[in-house]
Amino acid sequence: MFNRKIFLIFILLFLSVFIFSDFDVNAFEIPDKISVGLDSFDVSEVIIDNKEIYLGYDGKFSECALYCNNSFKIYILNEDIILNIDGVDMINLNDNFQIKANDCLKLNSKRYRGILEFYKKKIDLNYKLKIINLLSCNEYLYGVVCSEMPHNWPEQALKAQAVAARTYLLSSINNKTHKDFDICDKVHCQVYKGLDSEYSRVNDFIDETENKCIVYNDKIINAYFFSSSGGNTDDVENVWGNKIDYLIGIDDKYESECKIWKCKFSKNDIQEILDKKNIDLGEIIDLSIDEINKNNRVNKILISGSKSNLILSKQSIINFFNSIKTGFLSRNFYIEKNDTSDGFEIIFNGKGYGHGVGMSQYGAKGMSDSGFNFIEILKFYYTGVEIANS
Ligand SMILES: [Zn+2]
Repeated sequence: MFNRKIFLIFILLFLSVFIFSDFDVNAFEIPDKISVGLDSFDVSEVIIDNKEIYLGYDGKFSECALYCNNSFKIYILNEDIILNIDGVDMINLNDNFQIKANDCLKLNSKRYRGILEFYKKKIDLNYKLKIINLLSCNEYLYGVVCSEMPHNWPEQALKAQAVAARTYLLSSINNKTHKDFDICDKVHCQVYKGLDSEYSRVNDFIDETENKCIVYNDKIINAYFFSSSGGNTDDVENVWGNKIDYLIGIDDKYESECKIWKCKFSKNDIQEILDKKNIDLGEIIDLSIDEINKNNRVNKILISGSKSNLILSKQSIINFFNSIKTGFLSRNFYIEKNDTSDGFEIIFNGKGYGHGVGMSQYGAKGMSDSGFNFIEILKFYYTGVEIANS
């Protein structure tokens, strides 16, 4: 009996070491350097405005600098990447070469910290220049937080944004969202604008929350955030499919400033969208809300035609109406219908801005103004989470 107890305790100890060491390694590690795909540069050539750069591969750089009087140009010629110095083609470079400078790098007049890596990629029969920015996690966040939230917003809202953005980066690395790099610089992941978007006040907040990230059941969460909820956030499955326990809709009473919007579509506008999408419903008869969820967001819209009907659901509602106009900002709306000479017009009266899943940035601002700290803000918007040191 005694031996059996010892054996069971040994097995439990063994399992706990195995389980805990597994999530320690996988969930909490921040790499020394992360890679940001500068997808906003969709180009065949770039100008480097530095007067002095160093060339390298795999983080190993020449000790001899290259100098120019005016500028360096890096461009694609047929299938080659060429380095042009002051108007003269100097070096035919291999893929994945890197450049650094003693100070920041100036790429098409935009300043970046760290290292820039260049490679070519065939897109629609032609090669395009692709650029990756390699830098530390905090340096990356310096260029994200003020691109995603105004720099003069209150401290705790900016700290909540910093921790959410760090967590989003780590989940993007874990999920392998992109093949060639950890995260892109566009709204697809989170907006990163490099050194020009930085403010030292906000950099201090990022440093003060260094290594903090949001976890649920000891795993890094998908820390989605958006601009304004209009009073309720939404369950993630109403936007992208699968249920996630920490991304559930909540009553958001902290938005002191809420985005109010209005968008008008005539019967002809709706016909134009359907034609663009090659959808033939016949004569359009009506457009109505078919389902509203418990978070006050429209889940389904029905467009009735003389031949057939169309149901728009979830995010496809926003994509549908934004395909010919801008300004359709959320699924938190009601509709008014007026008869007109060409049939009818629909006026969408909306609140909030964005997908509605996770943290509302205007709500974070309101909570910060009401005296809540960044941990309380994050725990309010992400249900059941903890803030961990990575
Ligand atoms: Zn992306």
